[in-house]
Parts: sequence; C-alpha cells; structure tokens
Amino acid sequence: MCIFCEIVSGNIPARIVYEDDQVIAFLDVAPTSYGHTLVVPKQHVESFLDCPEELLDHVMKVAQELANRLKNNLNCDGINVLTNVGEA
Ligand SMILES: [Zn+2]
Repeated sequence: MCIFCEIVSGNIPARIVYEDDQVIAFLDVAPTSYGHTLVVPKQHVESFLDCPEELLDHVMKVAQELANRLKNNLNCDGINVLTNVGEA
C-alpha cells in the first residue's frame, strides 16, 4: 500500500484539512513552503498521468478551492500547484 493510501485508510495519521468521498487533503509533514498541502484522490493512482479524467477534474477543483482559501487566509504573494511523477 502506498503512503497516500495508508493515510486515506487511517493507518498513518495526518493533519487533514479537507475530505470528501473522492479526495483527501492534508498538510505535508515536511513542508517545502508555508501552507504546503497535499490533495490526493482516495482511489489509488500511480500518478497524475494515469488518474481517471473525472477524478482528476475533481482533484483539481478541490485544489483550486483550497488554494483560494490559503491565498486569502495566509495573505501570500503567490501559490505553486504541482504534481510529482516518479522519483525524479
Ligand atoms: Zn495508493
């Protein structure tokens, strides 16, 4: 089971900031920036590249909502939205 699925199943604790039937969002344990939040599908996918289209649409909609909340609440100058594929 991957680390995200471990978090979804509750085996690994996380500071969850959003959850619905398809998506969970939580604070990164080793943040690279202020407000570093991970938004992941509850269904296991290897990466962004093989995420089903409708699920990807929902993940991005939630990411947009959370990014707007972060921007408004942290009064930051900008937001980075990115995804990692593979170890590189
Ligand atoms: Zn997984």
